[in-house]
Amino acid sequence: MAGNMGSSKHVEFCPRCGRSGYARVERRGSREYIYFVHYVKNPKTGRYRTVRCYIGPAGEYAYVEKLHVLGLTNIVEQDYVVTAYLACKKYIESVARYVVDRLATARDKEKRSVVVEAVEKLDKLINMLNSVLKEAEETKKRIAEA
Ligand SMILES: [Zn+2]
Repeated sequence: MAGNMGSSKHVEFCPRCGRSGYARVERRGSREYIYFVHYVKNPKTGRYRTVRCYIGPAGEYAYVEKLHVLGLTNIVEQDYVVTAYLACKKYIESVARYVVDRLATARDKEKRSVVVEAVEKLDKLINMLNSVLKEAEETKKRIAEA
């Protein structure tokens, strides 16, 4: 059973395939799922049929989110900037925790390598963020010049 069709809201373009249509929430049991509905014309018959793109569950992805706490949700509601921020924050915290834990038990001659390793982990993040920043600046420039 497909279940009853829930509320629909008008959205212009599908976040999955880019075609026009509208989002529809469908309830199955206690859960709600978002689909994007398109009317596609058959060039031979001239008749329309509906094609659906699956967007994701309504609300947050309960299980994955519990593990990662990254603000993960469906494609329509996902804010990638918030997720990127939360992921960077978690990474920095994990490096800090790693250093504290390792230094607590490391012998004197091991301490320097713990610090070097932590600096390398942070350099990895800084380098990736710098390339993202550069790309964002270039995109902003292209848009402003257009
Ligand atoms: Zn689509």
